[in-house]
Amino acid sequence: MDASQFFPDFKRNLVGQYEECAGYRLLCKNQSFDPYNDLNCEDDMKKVPFVTTTLFKKSNMLFKELLRLKPDEMVKWTVSSSTTGDPSIVGRVESDISQIKKFAEFQNDIFHPDGGYDCVFYPHPLEMNEYASQLISGKPTESYIGNVMGIFKFSRNTDFLLKLVDNDFVLDIDTFIAFLSRHNNKHDDLAIRGSTLLLYNTVEKLKNEIPPVKLGRNAIVHTGGGGWDGKKGNITSETEIERFRFVEEISSFLGIPEENFLDTYSFTENSAPITGHYSKEFRDYYFHVPEWARVIIRDIRTLEPLEQRGAKGFIQVLNAYGTNAYAGASVLVDDIAEIISTERCPDCGQKCMTLSITGRVKGSEAKGCGATLSVRSEVA
Ligand SMILES: [Zn+2]
Repeated sequence: MDASQFFPDFKRNLVGQYEECAGYRLLCKNQSFDPYNDLNCEDDMKKVPFVTTTLFKKSNMLFKELLRLKPDEMVKWTVSSSTTGDPSIVGRVESDISQIKKFAEFQNDIFHPDGGYDCVFYPHPLEMNEYASQLISGKPTESYIGNVMGIFKFSRNTDFLLKLVDNDFVLDIDTFIAFLSRHNNKHDDLAIRGSTLLLYNTVEKLKNEIPPVKLGRNAIVHTGGGGWDGKKGNITSETEIERFRFVEEISSFLGIPEENFLDTYSFTENSAPITGHYSKEFRDYYFHVPEWARVIIRDIRTLEPLEQRGAKGFIQVLNAYGTNAYAGASVLVDDIAEIISTERCPDCGQKCMTLSITGRVKGSEAKGCGATLSVRSEVA
């Protein structure tokens, strides 16, 4: 994808969203923003009104107002895994899903899809999508992670470790142990993918049961779906997981080099997942903002855009692609990232905005940010 194409494509997407989604148009009018006149260069993107992810929460009952098409034109409703029982609900059409697939394919060189062997700390995507699915306007709800996994080209030799037993997902630890012993000391081309929390908890448990293994230099660990704060859906852990501790402990127990660890960050309202690689030197995952998206980091109190290295704030993603069904061209999420560089990854040298994703806003910080609520009253 040609990076110079992003701005015109983003403008086209945003104008389309403005025309098709009355809720977003209202938001723009309240902020005196007219995409025809006020969006003329890349720098103007900072002025583009954003929809906060809280607006997509089920309890707000606004998710149908955030569509660009009629509710019955959706192919599916993508829902977030929710610790609170209040998931986000995002309507999607086929082209939105196939766009996520294209983005994943652009990164085949790092994801190693369709390799030798995959071992996945998630259920099979079909089971994940059907689980607890409901109909809204005649279309099924499906898990966002299930959707993202559903477009991924897993190898033919894939073990999905979460099995449905009595309507509950249960981890099949025996299959994992068998996978480890089958590939021990062989340097096979393999990937361990899935939930950070499940992988971490499983390895911690196995440390007391089996000796460490050496999966070797051709193995990668590719996590996704968050969970670093110790919570994900129904799974909880005592504490948050420090990223360096996760990598160092799993690396040493499974015998996989630390530089082979990847983590993908996304959220239900987003269309362009952002992947980070672990930096052994900086002991953190460094996330590369891909050329097919833009990220603006905003101060959690003032919401002003930040640019200096080391600045931390909310993540706003600008999507030019994959939001044909819903108002996802400009979304602000209450996750916090730190700007590592606006130009180049200091670890690997790639030219891209580089972020460290540090987690959710919480406690006293949260009290300072009424911003998410004021946006709600503008659309409602
Ligand atoms: Zn890098």
